[in-house]
Amino acid sequence: MGNDLPEIKLVFDEPKLKKKTPRHIADFSPEQRKDLAVELGLPAFRANQVSNHYFTHLSSNPQTWSDIPADLRETLAELFIPKLIELVRSVTCDNGMTRKDLWRLHDGVLVESVLMRYTDRTTVCISSQAGCGMNCPFCATGQAGLTRNLTAGEITEQIVAAARSCASGELPGGPTRLSNIVFMGMGEPLANYNSVMRSLRNITDPNPHGLGISARSVTVSTVGLVNGIERLINEGLPVTLAISLHTPDDELRNSLVPINSRWKVKEVLQAADAYAEKTGRRYSIEYAMIKDINDQTWRADLLGRLLKNRNAHVNLIPLNPTPGSKWTASRPEDEAEFVRILESYGVPTTVRDTRGREIEGACGQLAAAFIK
Ligand code: SAH
Repeated sequence: MGNDLPEIKLVFDEPKLKKKTPRHIADFSPEQRKDLAVELGLPAFRANQVSNHYFTHLSSNPQTWSDIPADLRETLAELFIPKLIELVRSVTCDNGMTRKDLWRLHDGVLVESVLMRYTDRTTVCISSQAGCGMNCPFCATGQAGLTRNLTAGEITEQIVAAARSCASGELPGGPTRLSNIVFMGMGEPLANYNSVMRSLRNITDPNPHGLGISARSVTVSTVGLVNGIERLINEGLPVTLAISLHTPDDELRNSLVPINSRWKVKEVLQAADAYAEKTGRRYSIEYAMIKDINDQTWRADLLGRLLKNRNAHVNLIPLNPTPGSKWTASRPEDEAEFVRILESYGVPTTVRDTRGREIEGACGQLAAAFIK
């Protein structure tokens, strides 16, 4: 690893050059993909053929594309599915059932994804931005600021890579299907709306245009950008919405989630209610439990009162302290009391398992450690 460090530091300065990410079929709608083929002087159906290899068969090896003339395969692959993400390193834990991948993008920018196999499902947690502009003080990604938005191709490539890893049996337990996708890696998905939306279509569109994974198996987690939630309501795509609330009161939330100065707790919950109303989907409230900061019984009471008649459930996440942070996770007894109080209001509550903790699984931590 020692030898890699200077190189990483150097490429990390490169984004200033603002090289454009190569275009990729995943950036486009099925219609636009056909137009792209025509624009390149190819019959429109070539776009569908490549989509089929990419989304249905998860293939990145044009040699095997037997429905396409041999002399055209490489060119088509370069034009339609250029490699946008390159694996820098993987770290595993939980006997290999959790794997965190660090990816280098074409301009040297680093992002992470995490693949987690459970008995009944396999979930990938992906990044939608390199860095994040939301500046939440407990989050490793927030500390570094926003480098840039990812393209739909770069987001989709993380998902397709995970689907390939599942299909090829890289995780213990043999081949499986990628079943769930959560936008809980680096970045604020609703601040990169168009690319995230295109990626959601790539996930949910049936083969050959997309991966054919149900919207119900996809979670979009947001700090609570109300304008983004309102746009999402009208997309007709019933993904699960997760709101990173972290405290029920505006005073503390203004510092824990600084965008709260723009959209208050009440406005965020109203937008989430409207989302639930339109999609019929229960939303989740993410709540990082931070010792003596947001874990007091009075806050549990306030949260219980806020949520008791809403179509929401609470997901408590023991804080994963970022390096140098003065904050730590709540005491087990405080966490248990918090759960008890919420449940006394009839609010469904779960405590997130802490998968990947020892591999710096919290948002942005692997990339941050690597850059250092
Ligand atoms: N920007 C989006 C998605 C990325 S983070 C959002 O904020 O929702 C995914 C979740 O991990 C968020 O709920 C975030 O608040 C939480 N998180 C970030 N850093 C954490 C940490 N150090 N410990 C526990 N949870 C953390």
